[in-house]
Amino acid sequence: MNITDACFSDADKARVYLESLRWPGGPVCPHCGSQKATSLEGLKHRPGVYQCNEAECREQFTVTVGTVMERSKIPLNKWLYAIHEMGASKKGKSAHQMHRELGITYQSAWFMCHRIREAMRDDSPSMMGGGGKVVEADETYYGRSKQKHPLSRNRKPTYTKKGWKDKGSARPIVALVERGGSVRSFHIGHATQAQVEKIVTENVAKESRLHTDESRLYTRIGAEFAGHETVKHSAKEYVIYNHTFDENRKLHTEVITTNTIEGYFSIFKRGMKGVYQHCDEKHLHRYLSEFDFRYNSRTALGVTDTERAGRIVRGAEGKRLTYRRPDGTSL
Ligand SMILES: [Zn+2]
Repeated sequence: MNITDACFSDADKARVYLESLRWPGGPVCPHCGSQKATSLEGLKHRPGVYQCNEAECREQFTVTVGTVMERSKIPLNKWLYAIHEMGASKKGKSAHQMHRELGITYQSAWFMCHRIREAMRDDSPSMMGGGGKVVEADETYYGRSKQKHPLSRNRKPTYTKKGWKDKGSARPIVALVERGGSVRSFHIGHATQAQVEKIVTENVAKESRLHTDESRLYTRIGAEFAGHETVKHSAKEYVIYNHTFDENRKLHTEVITTNTIEGYFSIFKRGMKGVYQHCDEKHLHRYLSEFDFRYNSRTALGVTDTERAGRIVRGAEGKRLTYRRPDGTSL
């Protein structure tokens, strides 16, 4: 699939394509899950309207019912284009660009982009790492909070990185990456030990080896893992090669670093600065979902642009993020 394909200019072709992705075995009723449905095309209905044949259901539906595209007035070919572009552009694509390229209002484009981010969100994450695997954990700061997150008086604001003197207003992000695998990132109110420990505990299998910098945030939780190695960034130490010999005198080298996660943070920051520029703090987690998604379906893992778009379409299911205008109509 490339951008000259008819499904990006023809709403009906886009609909057929979306149906093939969502229902490879034919229409499935989103209300009851039945695979018995009849097309109502020609029977006073436009193509793409189906009716469930189950006697107790009999609901009518289209391919967008129960997805982030439900009740949208934007034609499906434009949705498909936006999905494809947000998946394929390395740094993302702004609502301004979508607005210009698709000839829809900026407001519609903005809502559409956020719904696509929702489709990109991994809503059933499994534990990262495992035996013999390395998970890097690190935190960074992006932008400034509008609202101050006051620090409690009796807690010393020691856990922030250089460059942030006004520590109550930075937006901390904690991210975990499995070496050679996927990333998961979180926007948190404060990078406190309790918050970081909760994230690490809930997302990383204890059989993993944890790699972090020397931050004290990870000291206590690190002890619960199969291993916890640190690099000392304050001493300009970024990679340590840990050589060990096993009982057969075979050399094993463990690379201790947090360079993978630092690399991810730099992709995120370059994208945010270059493409999105303004980001309300309340939406920061949505942008993180977007960058996590692209990283986790990157070309290096063998995922093509077409497959990536397909993953977004499948991820759109069961996530009905409907925004309402003040007058009650949807976009
Ligand atoms: Zn049904």
